[in-house]
Amino acid sequence: MQRISQQSYRTAAYIMIEIPNYSRRASVGVRVGPITIGGNHPVVVQSMTNTDTADAASTVKQVQQLAAAGSELVRITVNTEEAAAQVGRIRGMLDTLGCRVPLIGDFHYNGHLLLTKYPDCAEALAKYRINPGNVGFGRKRDGQFSTMIEVAIKYNKPVRIGVNWGSLDESLVVSMMDENAKSPNPRSAAEITREALIQSALMSAARAEELGMRRDQIVLSCKVSGVQDLIGVYSELARRCDYALHLGLTEAGMGSKGIVASTASMGYLLQGGIGDTIRVSLTPEPGGDRSKEVVVAQEILQTMGLRAFTPLVTACPGCGRTTSTVFQELAEDIQAYVRTQMPIWKNTYPGVEEMTLAVMGCVVNGPGESKHANIGISLPGTGEAPAAPVFVDGEKFTTLRGERIAEEFKELLNNYVVSHYGQGGSAVSAP
Ligand code: SF4
Repeated sequence: MQRISQQSYRTAAYIMIEIPNYSRRASVGVRVGPITIGGNHPVVVQSMTNTDTADAASTVKQVQQLAAAGSELVRITVNTEEAAAQVGRIRGMLDTLGCRVPLIGDFHYNGHLLLTKYPDCAEALAKYRINPGNVGFGRKRDGQFSTMIEVAIKYNKPVRIGVNWGSLDESLVVSMMDENAKSPNPRSAAEITREALIQSALMSAARAEELGMRRDQIVLSCKVSGVQDLIGVYSELARRCDYALHLGLTEAGMGSKGIVASTASMGYLLQGGIGDTIRVSLTPEPGGDRSKEVVVAQEILQTMGLRAFTPLVTACPGCGRTTSTVFQELAEDIQAYVRTQMPIWKNTYPGVEEMTLAVMGCVVNGPGESKHANIGISLPGTGEAPAAPVFVDGEKFTTLRGERIAEEFKELLNNYVVSHYGQGGSAVSAP
């Protein structure tokens, strides 16, 4: 493990917070376009589209949405000739729209064919994802894997060797199971499967290096769908190599289950310094917003103090002291407001992502929590005087009253942003 001093951690863009006793696993940094994964760089947020890549317009639209939400890398499926034929065009359309987010191509089964037949695709992608369990079988396997690596070398592109529990190399598992059965102290099938995941990733990486790839062009992942399995596999993988690691719980699931499982597993590993880029694999509800996986990934990193992306709102859960929904609506409104402002604010007001906000439901904990935030408000609870004290940087600043509390609080918030993060901005003034 390499200890990262608070100083060096702060030198990377948009990094925050002292984390006592935190040390990040040392890894070899991998450049993916303008982004670096690993090597002491901030943990990178990435996501994946669920559009048909052959439908260039829909894919461009979703890539833009994911990038606008904060995804620093976006992966697209490249599964057919029609899809591969559109990749260069998708890159061109995104560039024209000013969306420079690097694209990663996700290949299975036929990647060797698509990357050789469609050079525009090979050139337009910033990284290739190769699943060693899905590159072919038997004697064909090595040739097809080698072809993809050779294309990556030719175009100077990094790769992710992404092993997956659901598509693990069967021949490797069978031979390891056979060997285990002969052992006087056989291990459980689950242990052997976890070991097979790790070996598949490490052997494939070693083969890629034999073929001429540099270590700073290789990212590894070993995704599983169980929390304890993910922790076990990545802890061991991290111990055995210094490749940059892509972290993610595969098939995390829908809604709160997917968020909780991803957070529980990745939070544990990240706190141990393991993981250089993360993806949260949420299943969206039908017609749901794909960008939610980006927001969750950012919130995991931000609530852990590893990065700052957008001001977060601290809000109380509410209780019998505040029976109206006014404070819940204000908390939601303010969080949504800062998220929509961030694409502008982050360019105009550097550092604003570290601002903290509080929206509280009554005066029991409200003023105390508000004092800890840069700007906080306590709404009146049931039976309390219809007044909402506002605190700015720990000091009582004003009291809002009447029907326009939400609007006036937003005005105060805007003034705070301009005066504290803008150059030559005005001081905060009460509305
Ligand atoms: S701050 Fe007030 S309303 Fe919110 S949980 Fe605490 S007591 Fe209840």
